Amino acid sequence: MPTDGLTPAQRQAVTHAGGPLLVLGGPGTGKTRTLIARFQWLVEQGAPPESVLALTFSAPAADGLRMRIEDAIDRPYEELSVCTVHGLCARLLRDEAAEAGLDPFAQPVTPADRLAMLLERIDELTLRRHDLRGNPAALLAGVIERVDRLKEELVTAEEYAAWAAEASRSGQEREFAGLYRAHDRMLAERGALDFGDLLLTGHRLLRDNAGVRARAAERYAHLLVDEYQDLNLAQVQIAAVLARGSATAVFAADPEQSILRFRGAATKNVEALAAPVVRLERSLRCRRRILDAARAEVDGEAGGEVAFWRATNERAQAQAVAADIERRIVREGLRPDEVAVLVRSVRNEGQEVAVALEERAVPFRLVGAAAFFQRAEIRDVLAWLRLLSDPGGAGAVVRALARPPVELRSVDLARCIQISRRRKLDMVSALVAATESPQLPPESRERILHFLRRHKAGAGQLDTVRPDLFVQRLIERLGLRRQQLFAAQADVVERLVNLAKLSELATQYVRRSPQATAREFARYIAAVAEAGLREEEASVAGAAPGVQVMSMLTAKGREFEAVYVLGLQSARMPGARRRTFEPIPDALLHEELPAESRAAHVAEMRRLLHVAMTRARARLVLAYPERSEAGAIMQPSPFVEEARAAVGGTWEQREEELFGPAESLHAAARALRGEVLDAVSAVGGRLGELRLDTDLDVSHAIVRYLELLKLGALIQRPAGQSVEETLPAINARLGQGLSAEQREVFETSTLDDFLLGADADDRRRTSGLAARSEPSLEAFLPRRGAGLVLSASDVETYLTCPLKYKFARVFRIPQEPTVNQRFGILVHQVLERYHAVGGESKTLAELLGLLEAGWRRGGFGDSDEERQLRAKAIEALTRYHERFQSEPADPVWLERAFAFKLGDHLVRGRVDRVDRLPDGGFELIDYKTGRPKSAAQLKSDVQLSLYAVGAREAWQLDAAQQAYYYVLDDAKVPVERSAEDRDWVTDTVLEVADGIMSQGFEPTPSYAACSVCDYRIVCPAAER
Ligand code: SF4
Repeated sequence: MPTDGLTPAQRQAVTHAGGPLLVLGGPGTGKTRTLIARFQWLVEQGAPPESVLALTFSAPAADGLRMRIEDAIDRPYEELSVCTVHGLCARLLRDEAAEAGLDPFAQPVTPADRLAMLLERIDELTLRRHDLRGNPAALLAGVIERVDRLKEELVTAEEYAAWAAEASRSGQEREFAGLYRAHDRMLAERGALDFGDLLLTGHRLLRDNAGVRARAAERYAHLLVDEYQDLNLAQVQIAAVLARGSATAVFAADPEQSILRFRGAATKNVEALAAPVVRLERSLRCRRRILDAARAEVDGEAGGEVAFWRATNERAQAQAVAADIERRIVREGLRPDEVAVLVRSVRNEGQEVAVALEERAVPFRLVGAAAFFQRAEIRDVLAWLRLLSDPGGAGAVVRALARPPVELRSVDLARCIQISRRRKLDMVSALVAATESPQLPPESRERILHFLRRHKAGAGQLDTVRPDLFVQRLIERLGLRRQQLFAAQADVVERLVNLAKLSELATQYVRRSPQATAREFARYIAAVAEAGLREEEASVAGAAPGVQVMSMLTAKGREFEAVYVLGLQSARMPGARRRTFEPIPDALLHEELPAESRAAHVAEMRRLLHVAMTRARARLVLAYPERSEAGAIMQPSPFVEEARAAVGGTWEQREEELFGPAESLHAAARALRGEVLDAVSAVGGRLGELRLDTDLDVSHAIVRYLELLKLGALIQRPAGQSVEETLPAINARLGQGLSAEQREVFETSTLDDFLLGADADDRRRTSGLAARSEPSLEAFLPRRGAGLVLSASDVETYLTCPLKYKFARVFRIPQEPTVNQRFGILVHQVLERYHAVGGESKTLAELLGLLEAGWRRGGFGDSDEERQLRAKAIEALTRYHERFQSEPADPVWLERAFAFKLGDHLVRGRVDRVDRLPDGGFELIDYKTGRPKSAAQLKSDVQLSLYAVGAREAWQLDAAQQAYYYVLDDAKVPVERSAEDRDWVTDTVLEVADGIMSQGFEPTPSYAACSVCDYRIVCPAAER
């Protein structure tokens, strides 16, 4: 039952009937859980799963919500609508492209793409009144940010221009109006939409077009909105239109967690919603003390306790966190992925924490867009791209020389830099000169020559090879992938996945800028990395389990057993008000918002910390460094002081460990040496005085000295002996000449406990490291609940070769998309759009017009091969059109999705076309652009059989026929299937799933499989 285990308030929200409802609750009170239960309940009441639209604020939050709903729903369905408002608008505009007057192949573009676009055409922009400060990328990133803000507030370029044209406006405002228009014009010329356009156009379409509104209302009978407080004006208005059309709408919100809303309009969305309210009062996540401390951030209530650390500096802060996490993992069995370290900015503060966790061999991940560009493997590739495209980039050359595969010794590196400086040469020319230097040993010369060879090969292709191929070849050439391909440790796989992501960014770039060179891509990616723009694609799902180091903002919507919030000095929390590039004038706003002020900033920071603190279920540590990098003394955040006062906490001091975690004996000896020297002067000075406690002081000083000797003996103990084994003998020897009083002090000292504990930690760390190297790809499998998510092509790939499945779906190494593959995708898209707008009423010219539009957007060039393909496509589509007009085909669905549960697994797919046959039956059709196969060759084909099962399960449709349609050859090959197929398909899918779950990825090479496998270059099994 969906309502099992829910509180009465949650049950009330889940079973609410009729009009809109607002569910209010603090962090961890189960708002999202309530929405999921409502989804389940609606489905149980008979609502089709695809009729429930669930919206949330970010793509990762939507992914998380979708997974939980997929796990909760047992009924088959076509496709769930669980997405962001942007995602919803993208779908709406694709389905309603004709109504919206959009190019049917229009692509949403990221801020990074737009930055590249503006940088490429900077000469066309008027920037006389904007200060470039030598960094156009940063200025243009600011322009993009401001355009986004304006669009979120539904302010169009025209509205802004009209406002800026008024006499009282400044020249800079008028210039910005021109920039805004130029930005939109350039996007339109590319047939692209930015995220703001998705909202603006989606909103306009829903508001002004009754037909579109009616279709949306028919499709989405029920609406669920999570994190409603953080929706911007455009999103709120879109949700409002949808809510008016739907039978029921439930909004979940917590105004105290509003950290994304423009100008701190924290409670605005909630206040403006006219709906009955259900309040969830009980936190099911945070323990009492954490809640008490967190409440101090919002309303100043008292009670409870939480840990407060004052660290000597940032390094001490990071070390203390790493040591504490390690202790809890090894002693208390806490899972690393149950821990989060939250900072204001991963880019600025994440590295320190990463180093400290690395020192203790605690697995971790830096999370977030900025983190992607900070990863070592990504920086390696970026360094090579930079040095190839810009010979003056000395920093990039130095990195490339120091890192694999070159790994030049630092002394030789210093020599090369010296040559470059003295002779005023760029680094690459200096390296050429260095190869003639007698000071360089032959091995180093060889390494430099190795670098120069790679440099020459790369530079030669920079202006000739397509960017995506260039990046893939660079990765291969640097050996970054090959070295690691067969390792199975989670962190190694994560590196591979990140490299794959970089290749994907290049592929997407090519799709958008078909004619661009690798040099242009190098400039683009460098600008993206530098400008710190959010790059939506640059995140890795299904990553290795580990402590998550992320920004407070990114942590929103997540929860962890233990949370460490760092950098809580007053200079940063609340810190100075960050001035946006330029505020949006009130006259342009379509809503009333609180004024931008210091008070609004403070309130927003307070809510941000509140969100960060309430991510913790059981343990919360709030920390700050008392000295800045420059040595200035820093004060704790007033918010933390309030929390400390509220729970009666005290500051605990955390010092820097100079010797690192594995050097506890050295660190203890160093500390004790200081104590002994202090005791010498203190006790020595008192020896002449007539004091009763002087003898005891002397005994303490002697014992401290003996303990120093003890540490010396332990440091020099024979290799392989543990502290536990050595300690008794040393203690016996040292204790021989002690007086009774000294013996008592000696035996009651806590030093031995500390040493034994540290020794045990060392051993646990060593065994932990050994355990980490045991291969397991568990974290990378496409899990859903207790099972897997599988598509027909996953099953086929695994059946062809399990290792190929591992390369494609576990490591996610991008396949080099061949021209033929890209061409196949384009033909699919053209046919889908042709039928979507009523193929029977379309002329041949319109069909070929779609091919023309798709060809331009699809990144095709003018090579002989591409020209041939284009001629082939025109011929094939002409035949297709003629056949379609003359034959009694009746396509009823296109690209229709299905999903159903098979055992623990979720099987899903999408059928290209479903036709109604003259006798009323249905035929499933899958388009192919490859060479036709005969019916005999397709005998053991899984795909169409699985589609037939999917159609029966999800659509209750028994397909009478199934066929592959080989478009280029105009050949339709029917695939016969019998009633036993269902059992056969079920058994096959379950066998494949078992193989994947047990990580059975043994290769099954064959000529047929390997000759067309995209991974044969990297696959040793294919080597003969
Ligand atoms: S090259 Fe052959 S053996 Fe290697 S992954 Fe591909 S199909 Fe499998």
